[in-house]
Amino acid sequence: MTSIAFIGLGNMGGPMAANLVKAGHSVQGFDLVPASREAAAAEGVASAASAVEAVAGAEIVVTMLPAGKHVRAVWAEIVPAAEPGALLVDCSTIDVESARAAHELAAGRGLKSLDAPVSGGTVGAKGATLTFMVGGAEDAFRAGEPVLARMGRRVVHCGGAGAGQAAKICNNMILGITMIGISEAFVLGEKLGLSHQALFDVASTSSGSCWALTTHCPVPGPVPASAANHGYKPGFATDLMLKDLTLSQEAARSAGATTPLGARAAELYRTFQEGGHGGEDYSAIVTYLRGLAS
Ligand code: NAD
Repeated sequence: MTSIAFIGLGNMGGPMAANLVKAGHSVQGFDLVPASREAAAAEGVASAASAVEAVAGAEIVVTMLPAGKHVRAVWAEIVPAAEPGALLVDCSTIDVESARAAHELAAGRGLKSLDAPVSGGTVGAKGATLTFMVGGAEDAFRAGEPVLARMGRRVVHCGGAGAGQAAKICNNMILGITMIGISEAFVLGEKLGLSHQALFDVASTSSGSCWALTTHCPVPGPVPASAANHGYKPGFATDLMLKDLTLSQEAARSAGATTPLGARAAELYRTFQEGGHGGEDYSAIVTYLRGLAS
């Protein structure tokens, strides 16, 4: 049994902390929102009165927060309060620069740290089937891997500090660009009189096949579980896709990479979100592209 502090008990953090309890660990949690603390307490997560209180006695500290500014603020509080020898793991999706700043804070006190963003959404968080993309030193990875494995199905060590966040935003940039490509193909197919099923049957078994098409097909019919058959209820919300595409473009700018399709995908998703669709699944972008024709 490991003593774990879990800070940020929202849609993802709540069920992740609950899975650590189910795995037999002692978990002490904190969230600013009392309702999140209460929901986690019902799953066996002991409620702390503050982030600093939560980390007292913890061998591993996990944070699951909205954005880089929250991680920087919380880590500034908890690093000085953490036990000597503790491992700090941030699972939020944040900018690479903030992730590296968090690692530096921990290193300043001689603490091990990992950035370990996830893929798999709330379904993966509940079912402990997340994929963790991990950045940090080898010894920190060895210390964190067994605990991350209780919250997910795959734990990949991507490299040094920030490499987990880098892998996450590169992967999601592929996903955003791909979904727009798939959606454009269906919209063109509609104009050419092609049925959704015919295009799906060909593309899913030909060179156009990819995970987004076969899992998140943006038109109703071919993939019964896809959001298109359920009123585009997320799934993976447009707001989160836009967040990740925006992070990819910030990273591209600061690293001096040119990502013209990533930039265009971010623009299209931003326009879609500004039209009031941020809460719809990211595959609903097909409805926006269809509308451009008229
Ligand atoms: P959420 O908003 O549901 O949860 C974040 C929690 O952090 C909230 O409960 C909030 O009260 C808490 N919080 C904020 N500041 C705090 C502070 N100073 N101290 C303590 N608690 C604080 O968000 P979420 O959906 O759980 O996402 C968390 C992270 O995971 C985000 O970075 C998101 O991009 C990433 N992510 C989300 C999904 C998803 O499908 N929801 C998928 C992959 C990655």
